[in-house]
Amino acid sequence: MNKPLLRSFELLNYSIEVFYLDEVLNDKGERVFGWCDPHQAKIYVSLKSPHDDKPLSYDALQHCIAHEVAHFKLYFIDEDFYQDEAKIDLLGALDAQYDKTKVIS
Ligand SMILES: [Zn+2]
Repeated sequence: MNKPLLRSFELLNYSIEVFYLDEVLNDKGERVFGWCDPHQAKIYVSLKSPHDDKPLSYDALQHCIAHEVAHFKLYFIDEDFYQDEAKIDLLGALDAQYDKTKVIS
């Protein structure tokens, strides 16, 4: 895959780094699509599906990245929202589609 991937960004005075791994584990040792560590300002994104180990498409990776960025934002805004995986995933999908489809002239 030669398309560019998010490597870092800054929010709330944090410099957040994004890492891409073949396999990402959460704090319970379970394989997941991604993981956000707000205090360490690090996001980890899996390049392969935790379900079948197949490489994820670029669009799927963008969704995963946006999902983890949503976790980072909501950690500082709303504890309940931060832990609500369904809402975080929807917000991530919305942000990913916005980034993918916006037209700037
Ligand atoms: Zn999540």
